[in-house]
Amino acid sequence: MKTLDGFGDFNSNEVTAASTLLDYVQLTQKGSMPRLALPKRFLAGAGLGIDPSTRRNLELTRTLSGDYKGSLLQILDQTKTPAGARLFSLHLAAPLNEVTGIKNRLDRIDYCVHHSNFRDSLQEPLTSFPDIERSMGRLSMGRGGPRDLLALKVGLDQALNLKTKLSQEEKMPKGLINIEKDIGHHASLVDRLTRALKEDLPMLARDGGFIATGYLEELDEVLTLRDQGRSLIVQLQDKYRQDYDISSLKIKHNNILGYYIEITSIHADKVPYDFIHRQTMASAMRYTTVELSELEQQLASAGEKALALELRLYENLVQEVMVQGDSIAKTAQSVAELDVTLSQATLAIEQSFCRPQIDESLAFDIQGGRHPVVENALKDLNEDAFVPNGCDLGATQNLWLLTGPNMAGKSTYLRQNAIIAIMAQMGSYVPATSAYIGLVDRLFSRVGASDDLARGRSTFMVEMVETAAILNQATERSFVILDEVGRGTSTYDGLSIAWSVIEHLHNTTHCRTLFATHYHELTQLEIKLKTLACHTMKIREWNDKAIFLHEVIPGCADKSYGLYVAQLAGIPTSVLKRAEGILETLEKTRQKNEKSISGLPLFEGGQKGEQAPKVIEKILPSPVEDQLSDVAIDQLTPREALNLLYDLKEKVTKREISKAA
Ligand code: ATP
Repeated sequence: MKTLDGFGDFNSNEVTAASTLLDYVQLTQKGSMPRLALPKRFLAGAGLGIDPSTRRNLELTRTLSGDYKGSLLQILDQTKTPAGARLFSLHLAAPLNEVTGIKNRLDRIDYCVHHSNFRDSLQEPLTSFPDIERSMGRLSMGRGGPRDLLALKVGLDQALNLKTKLSQEEKMPKGLINIEKDIGHHASLVDRLTRALKEDLPMLARDGGFIATGYLEELDEVLTLRDQGRSLIVQLQDKYRQDYDISSLKIKHNNILGYYIEITSIHADKVPYDFIHRQTMASAMRYTTVELSELEQQLASAGEKALALELRLYENLVQEVMVQGDSIAKTAQSVAELDVTLSQATLAIEQSFCRPQIDESLAFDIQGGRHPVVENALKDLNEDAFVPNGCDLGATQNLWLLTGPNMAGKSTYLRQNAIIAIMAQMGSYVPATSAYIGLVDRLFSRVGASDDLARGRSTFMVEMVETAAILNQATERSFVILDEVGRGTSTYDGLSIAWSVIEHLHNTTHCRTLFATHYHELTQLEIKLKTLACHTMKIREWNDKAIFLHEVIPGCADKSYGLYVAQLAGIPTSVLKRAEGILETLEKTRQKNEKSISGLPLFEGGQKGEQAPKVIEKILPSPVEDQLSDVAIDQLTPREALNLLYDLKEKVTKREISKAA
């Protein structure tokens, strides 16, 4: 092929990437190319951007420990076919970023949710739908077998059945109409495969015996000949038994000797002279005869002929399937789409999910939101029911600062809102009573603490790298969740970093943000930052105990209950008592010695972003130090030394003037 223009307008980088992949497939598949779809361009920014650490932290397709069980995918996926499961996983991993596509998917689910008969009618055909995509892949690479042809027959037949069911529906949305159209119509191929294949099939074509009787006259004749040969052998056995009066004489077959006559040793004296000896066993002798050899040859040639014919027919059938490869691929894709739609509708009904409203605004208004994984885990453990929570990050309060004790549910709340955004943009119903979301371009998270020792990053370094990614890349349309920024370092370092990160997000980025923190001092920012709203987790104190109500309410937390949680976790009483004493002393000292944080000039420095931070300025050498470090004093002439002194003096004077300015 001289040009790739026919495939679309690809630039040289894209062509290089595609040809490298092609080369890889050729190399790894030893020259037998699988059926490949035409190249498609995925534009950067075409979907909701989710960076790898956010994917990992939200446990979308795998938990943090790498398990499928406990991941969001495991809870949401109710597909019935392998291809549906693959597509669902893809939708979850790559949510959309355009309203029309999302609405199309939601309309499909909506229709299924509101048409129970239609929903029920799809269950059975989908449950027994084979993986025709994989069968096509194997057949195209010459690794398939008769069972793949059978899978195609069953699948394409079921697809016709599904198509009929869809065509009986009225007023279906565009998405379902497209599925009906793309499912295609492969009745003649189904008919051909039904006529050609037996019901019980061998794994490999070379084993033969898979073409149905009546499909090809020539094959039937050869097979009759072979079968007659078999009955002739039985007749020969009977004849020998009678002629030589050996009732236990048997004609048997194995792969080494082929057909042979077996006579037990006690009848050895009756064996006729023209029997040709083949093998002596412990209690029997094996023979052949000219008659038996001739019969065997007849049989073998009929068998070989039958197998050759079957292999030829198999190749023809594979060819016929391959010619329709593109439209069969479309069928497989459409059935997978239908499966995903039905799965989402079923889940929406079972778990009371709602249809999200999506547009291009900057809204994020969730009522009664839930975390599907935590909710299910609580159900499994028979614990208290999950407490739903709303979240309204409208233009007037797009940055929520969430304080609250440990174990109160802050992380769960942050994650559940991110998950709701992802689910909405993958075109799914969401775990809430209502959800109104303006398209999110990128989702960022800084949650959980883990180091990345393999890449030489400590816990705090990972925390800062993730925070830097957010500050450098988030836009006004992004959705950001930050849990505990600055906890991995000393209190004042951490507090200062968290403080300035909030200011940056508020003043510069303007994205929708949920920021959970234990630095209660940060709540004072509410006075100065217009769109920052403080929220906290509701707690009830009872009999010296704290009851976590898991409810998000406006306001600020008054304490952390860290020692209480430590007690719940089983920290020894002596350690707890000592910690209580230390806490009391620390709090007294702080109250006595420190000014209130609001008294500090913290609200002033926020916008001088252009200047280098002091810590860096201090360690940079001054111009005078720079110059002196290069001088070898002992090698200077008196005149050079004097000039140097004048030079240095001038530099110091200039620096003082610029500082004064
Ligand atoms: P920490 O500050 O120690 O990290 P946290 O405030 O982030 O704690 P989570 O880890 O979110 O707390 O939640 C702790 C536990 O509380 C969860 O494992 C879950 O069992 C329960 N929980 C969280 N949210 C809810 C909820 N909305 N309804 C019921 N239980 C909840």
